[in-house]
Amino acid sequence: MSTILFNKIIFGPVFSRRLGRSLGINLLPTAKKCCNFNCVYCECGWTRKEHIGKEEFPPANLVKEALEKRLKELIATGQEIDNITFAGNGEPTMHPEFIKIIDDTVSIRNKFMSNVKISVLTNATSLANSEILEALNKIDNCILKLDTGKESTFKIINQPVLDVTLNEIVNNIKKFKGKIIIQSLFVKGIINNTEIDNTTKEEINEWLKLINEIKPELVMIYPIARPTPSGSLMKVSKEELDKIAEKVIKLSIKAVVY
Ligand code: SF4
Repeated sequence: MSTILFNKIIFGPVFSRRLGRSLGINLLPTAKKCCNFNCVYCECGWTRKEHIGKEEFPPANLVKEALEKRLKELIATGQEIDNITFAGNGEPTMHPEFIKIIDDTVSIRNKFMSNVKISVLTNATSLANSEILEALNKIDNCILKLDTGKESTFKIINQPVLDVTLNEIVNNIKKFKGKIIIQSLFVKGIINNTEIDNTTKEEINEWLKLINEIKPELVMIYPIARPTPSGSLMKVSKEELDKIAEKVIKLSIKAVVY
């Protein structure tokens, strides 16, 4: 199935149900995906192992210039935004100048649009790095991926390319002092002749245990919404996702289905 790659550093604003009018920042190369996960549902396609370590990231000064220019354009044309969001062609925290870019973005936001929030979508693998953890504590919304409570399902759905366990990721999430938002995607299908379904009773119970330990401010629940690299995945129904959200709400944790 055909997936998409962003061809610019700054994109949008686009309207997002969860973030409102959002100006996107893609810190990854524009022509290829760069991630240390290889999620079976990734809208950017499969992670190509031969690309790892050979990425060309946009330099921090270019990101700064592009963001400043775009914010000035938005102001000049009377366009308002709610969020500046780090997303794009992979895992933003893999950018070697990520910490500087966060500092620049906070200062540009404060100068031009002080009421706008800064959000980062991340798979949470970089929380093990204390400097990145500190940088993420400076932003408004750190949106962390957690699709399962089971190590074996994590290996099948998220397919980490680096040597990391779900347990390590969860322990690092618990160290995060800022506002934690968890995003979880639920999916069914067949991958490499193995059936996957992270909505079974056992799966949801294991996932809920972790959600209850992490106690995020919000859990964002998703089905697949766009083409995925594997064509054999099925979208989980809104009714099923609503039932999962109800279980989170019973833990006195806010949950929203998108
Ligand atoms: S973490 Fe995000 S960018 Fe990386 S493979 Fe998964 S969905 Fe794609």
